[in-house]
Amino acid sequence: MYDFIIIGSGTSGGMAAFTLQSGGAKCLMLEAGKRFRREDFPLSEVVYTPQLFWGGGADFTVAADMAILRGKCVGGGSIVNQALMDRFDDVALNDWRSDTGIDYFTAEGMDPHYSAAEANIIMQTIPPEWRNRNQELFIKGMDANGFHWHPLRRAQSDCGTMDGNDCLICLGGCHRGSKRSTMESFIPKAEEQGLEVRAETQVTQIESRGDSVVVHTQCNGKADKIEAKRVILAAGALGTTELLLKSGFKDKYPALGTKFAMHPQFMNYAIFEEPVNAHRGALQGVASEDPEMRKEGYKLENVFAPPIAVATVTQKTGRDLQEFMKWYTHLGCIEVAIRDENAGEMFLNNAGRLQVRKELTAQDKERKRKGFEAIRRVFDVLKPREIVYGPMGFGLHSMGGCCVGQNDKTSVVNPEFTLHHHPNIHCADISTFPNAPGINPALTVYAITHRMATGLLNN
Ligand SMILES: Cc1cc2nc3c(=O)[nH]c(=O)nc-3n(C[C@H](O)[C@H](O)[C@H](O)COP(=O)(O)OP(=O)(O)OC[C@H]3O[C@@H](n4cnc5c(N)ncnc54)[C@H](O)[C@@H]3O)c2cc1C
Repeated sequence: MYDFIIIGSGTSGGMAAFTLQSGGAKCLMLEAGKRFRREDFPLSEVVYTPQLFWGGGADFTVAADMAILRGKCVGGGSIVNQALMDRFDDVALNDWRSDTGIDYFTAEGMDPHYSAAEANIIMQTIPPEWRNRNQELFIKGMDANGFHWHPLRRAQSDCGTMDGNDCLICLGGCHRGSKRSTMESFIPKAEEQGLEVRAETQVTQIESRGDSVVVHTQCNGKADKIEAKRVILAAGALGTTELLLKSGFKDKYPALGTKFAMHPQFMNYAIFEEPVNAHRGALQGVASEDPEMRKEGYKLENVFAPPIAVATVTQKTGRDLQEFMKWYTHLGCIEVAIRDENAGEMFLNNAGRLQVRKELTAQDKERKRKGFEAIRRVFDVLKPREIVYGPMGFGLHSMGGCCVGQNDKTSVVNPEFTLHHHPNIHCADISTFPNAPGINPALTVYAITHRMATGLLNN
């Protein structure tokens, strides 16, 4: 029998497999998506989007006014993400501590776990010489307004930016192996030590049987059952919540499916007379780091996207869209990401399908308004032909649903990331986030998973 079955192979699953397998445990990893080798990632946006993301590209909220993106492949979110790696600041950690009463949510308490993750991931801070024109324009507009910004740190080793490599299709998987996904940093090392990985195997239900857990799977239309001493849930906010709801845990945990947040993001564009070529070179190099914006609950990111994504978020159609897309190489882009209230909810509908109810609260709308206003001020300095605001929100950081906390009424997992009353079911993926930090979450998912996994080994 396996010591652990790990469900999901993204940020949390990769770290859990690496730590537990290296510590001598016998682990099996199950992943619903396909396994790609570096050289196999599709090169075109229209091909990689349906192959690497759930929902054929995106899931939508119940009102269908916001899209939710999440990776579906071995490596999960770490394959499709932008790989920006940030530790939480005191604002985020203090909020987590006061929300949960958990005392290790401090810079000192988290430091050993952040350090363990950082030690195993190659990271680079984007230097000035790698910046493209989109980033130079952003910096000029920020400086003119007295807004603070900082260079970004990414999990990457060799993007070849100075050799003319473009990273536009980075979100469809990295051909160079530069982006340090779990498929570069953790899973192969765990496999060398005996980890077994089964791709295209979706877990449909889990059953706790006292001393063991039975995991029900579907692979190529065939149902199966596998037993392990313990299970690690690492299927992300939607995946883990859906699995627990389908396995009948809502009766035990009233908080299951609640406290959903997603850092809603809105991309805004400026059309310039001169070419910007934002699709060239490093896709993202700088972002706001402004104490005032942090206090107000939003941040500005200087990013860009491939054509289908750019076209989609404008919500333009027909001639309008055609006219706008002619300017693709002349677009500057700034995105606002909101630190949203965790008022969203996930539940199963009558057909047993997962639904996400997520509306912007009055506070979220005010944060969005302030973010749009800051973007207008940055663009105004640069004197573009036109500013095009992106009305469509999307979420890249789905959080919550199985929050960490002290009791089974208001949370699902305990401070050691074990389900209340279920000593052999564990979870430290992003579904456990008690509220939205307003900071890139992946490094903290690595850190809390490291905490959980080392705790399990020590016991
Ligand atoms: C486009 C994009 C850009 C992003 N950029 C950044 C960034 O720059 N910095 C940052 O910090 N964060 C970023 N994120 C978010 C970050 O990637 C996620 O927060 C993080 O990966 C969450 O880790 P996780 O392990 O909880 O879930 P995931 O990494 O999403 O892994 C979950 C895995 O479980 C699998 N799964 C789900 N259900 C099942 C099931 N029933 N059976 C088997 N397998 C299942 C999924 O296919 C997936 O592989 C980005 C996300 C996206 C989508």
